[in-house]
Formats: sequence, structure tokens, C-alpha cells
Amino acid sequence: MAKKYDVVIIGAGPAGMTAALYASRANLSVMLLDRGIYGGQMNNTAEIENYPGFKSILGPDLSQEMYDSAIQFGADFGYGTVKSVTDHGDYKTIETDADNYETKAIIIGTGSNYRDLGVPGEEEYRGRGVSNCAVCDGAFFRNQHVVVIGGGDSAVEEGEYLTRLVDKVTIIHRRDELRAQQIIQDRAFKNDKIDFIWDSNVQEITGDGNKVTGVKGVNNKTGEPFTADAGGIFIYVGIEPMSEPFRSLNITDENGWFVTNENMETTIPGIFAIGDIRKKELRQVVTATNDGGIAGQKAYQYITELEAKTEAANV
Ligand code: NAP
Repeated sequence: MAKKYDVVIIGAGPAGMTAALYASRANLSVMLLDRGIYGGQMNNTAEIENYPGFKSILGPDLSQEMYDSAIQFGADFGYGTVKSVTDHGDYKTIETDADNYETKAIIIGTGSNYRDLGVPGEEEYRGRGVSNCAVCDGAFFRNQHVVVIGGGDSAVEEGEYLTRLVDKVTIIHRRDELRAQQIIQDRAFKNDKIDFIWDSNVQEITGDGNKVTGVKGVNNKTGEPFTADAGGIFIYVGIEPMSEPFRSLNITDENGWFVTNENMETTIPGIFAIGDIRKKELRQVVTATNDGGIAGQKAYQYITELEAKTEAANV
């Protein structure tokens, strides 16, 4: 039998947790669903210093603070990997590997995942030197040389974090200019434990059969090959949406990102999308919580109107 809620929120990152806070505070029955621990990418982030109210806070600590806020007005938290979502108009159903749900509104905040580089050695050595999480795995490479691949905020910020643990960090970027925010770049350029290999693509992650030994690549301007020895390879070459279970709803763009209006509404009434899974420019904790607050409130308005409509039809 399906469990019934006014709102089911899928994904318990900062966006989903804020939506749960707003919707349950508006007296809706709320299920906040995740396939794992709440917090999303905050759990993989060392220090967060651009979330107002905290000069600096560890990602997992901010997750806990947000979770405590999210459930204080009675929202339930549950585990389950979503298999499919079906829109039946005035109600929607969700099938997970644990429970099934029937709900009036759905708020989707499943976020994004790190993209693979797609080179030989990447899969083979994942967990044996290849990582997407400096906070989780950086400590394994104490006093070693590590390579970071990418030129965005994640690559440069996580590269800087790694310098606290490792001997030396080499950032390999495919252009001669970083994409990361200026303040993040400035810090990296001042850090003498970081050096850069510019205009270069990594073509292979090398290993000794047991663990990573380095990378091989090529300078894409000169065609000159290069190698770098390293115990750890951290790959930050962008993100992709975790929207697979929702593709059949046909409300994402061709790359899987949800396009919403400023009320976080998708083209299906009663289905909202929030946080990193939305097509947007600035993916930050603060923009995720913004989306969550709006969606929680808009779900309340949607359900109020739905109930008024149903009542009028029954008179
Ligand atoms: P991103 O901004 O998309 O950057 C990806 C980087 O990887 C780019 O430098 C890109 O190069 C490079 N790249 C892409 N495909 C590649 C390939 N096949 N081979 C080699 N390099 C490749 O991704 P992100 O850094 O993960 O950030 C994702 C989002 O989270 C962004 O919106 C970012 O602002 C946000 N974020 C913010 C913070 C913060 O504010 N503290 C921290 C982390 C993330 P090009 O530059 O040449 O395209």
C-alpha cells in the first residue's frame, strides 16, 4: 500500500531540506526522501564560507544544522531510491526500492553528480587513487603528490584544500585560463604547494595494477606529450544532473536539467524542481536553499488551491 503525503520531496540536500522546512511549517504532511544520508554535496565539502550566518562551517556540520531545522515541524525523513514517478493529475505516485508513495505534490531536488573524464584507468583505479572527493579521500595521500583535473570552482577549491594534507598539488587544465571564481583563483595562485599544467588533456590514468601511479597526457597546443607522477587523481570536470528516474515525465531539457519558472514550477502542475538539478547559472548552497523555500511555499499554495477545487466539485 502506498504511503500518503501532501508533499514528497526527493533529495535531502540543502534545497530539499529547506523545502521540507517550509512545507511542514505550513502544516503540510511531508516526506523528505533520500537514497542515502541527508546533506547532499555539503557532506563532501570541507569548509563553507559563503553561507550567511556562518563565517565558516564544515559541510557536514551545516548538513546537520539544516536537517535539524528541516524536521522540527514534523517532516518525516525516509530512505529509498526512486525508480519511477507518475503524474495522475491531482495526485502523483512514486515507486522506490523501499516504499511506494501517493502524494499531491512532488518537489525534486536530487542534485548533480561529478562527470567522468572517460579515459583509460579512470574506472579501473576508482577507489585506488582515483577520486571525486578531496574531503573523503585526501587524507589517504598525506605527504604525497596529487593531480587535480579541471579548472572550475570544484577543481581549484578542492585542490587548495588538498594542500593542507599532501605535499604538492598539480592542477591540469585544458585551457590557459581557469573558470573558477576570481577569489578562488587568487588563493590558488598564491599557494606555493600548487602548480599548474596548462592547455593539457589527460589521456590516461596510469597505475601499477594495484594503485595509481600518475597520468599521461598531451599539450593540446603543441601536441607535446607529458607525464606526471601522482598517488592520487582528483577529477572535477563538471557535473551532470541526477534526473534519470524522471526522464519519462518529459520535463527536463535534452541534457536532463529541469527548466522551471521563478516559482520552481515545472510544466506539470504539482511537480517542482529545486537546487542543482535546475538549469541555472549559480549552483551554491545559498541558491539551493532559496529554491527550496520558494518550492515549499508554492507547494502549499498549489495544494490549497487543489483542495478548494476538489471541495467545490463535490458540492
Ligand atoms: P564546472 O564549473 O562546469 O567546471 C568544470 C571544469 O572542468 C572546467 O574548467 C572545464 O574546462 C573542465 N572540463 C570539462 N570537461 C573536461 C574534459 N573532458 N577534460 C578536461 N577538462 C574538462 O564544474 P565544477 O567546478 O564542478 O562546478 C559545478 C558548479 O558548482 C558550478 O556552478 C560552480 O560554480 C559550483 N561550485 C561552487 C563552489 C563555490 O562557490 N565555492 C564550489 C564548487 C562548485 P573549461 O573551463 O575549459 O570548460
